[in-house]
Amino acid sequence: MKDPFPIQVIKLTLRTKYIFEWWFKKIISRKKSPYELKGDCHQCGKCCENPTIKVSVFTFHFKFIRMIYLTWQQRINAFYFVSDDHKNNTFSFLCHHWDSTTKKCDSYSSRPGICYLYPKNLMQSSSPDLFEECGFEIQYKKSKLFKESLEKLSLTDEKKEELQKKLHLK
Ligand code: SF4
Ligand code: SF4
Repeated sequence: MKDPFPIQVIKLTLRTKYIFEWWFKKIISRKKSPYELKGDCHQCGKCCENPTIKVSVFTFHFKFIRMIYLTWQQRINAFYFVSDDHKNNTFSFLCHHWDSTTKKCDSYSSRPGICYLYPKNLMQSSSPDLFEECGFEIQYKKSKLFKESLEKLSLTDEKKEELQKKLHLK
């Protein structure tokens, strides 16, 4: 169901905050991503199937904060909790704005910050993995150098191929 007006206002305010914080952290850290983003979104919808959010240890482990966080996600973003991953402190959700038949978002204009910046917001992570179906590509900036070094190693072609993929050299 499309977001009602008050929810749109809340989401757009939070989205602006999210984008500003993301941009500010990028400027402050002065850490350039070793990866570059290529390609485009061809609207396969794969990233909407199970949106995943990494949270702080505090939010993940403190029952009360966790409950407030998950309730907020459900009420505001229509993200319904599905599972958690203790290793990475992440929550996976089912988004009720997602129509699996049309592969469309019914509230695209008020989508949350994590959806708005995807996959740019993966670029600072150590292992930015995309879905197979995604029209974007993430490539290691010094891939040429690494590829040449990899070629010199005595590995099978399959192993080289696997490493190239894992290290985003392709
Ligand atoms: S809010 Fe829209 S863009 Fe974000 S996960 Fe749901 S369907 Fe996708
Ligand atoms: S997975 Fe990639 S191509 Fe598919 S909708 Fe998301 S951003 Fe677009």
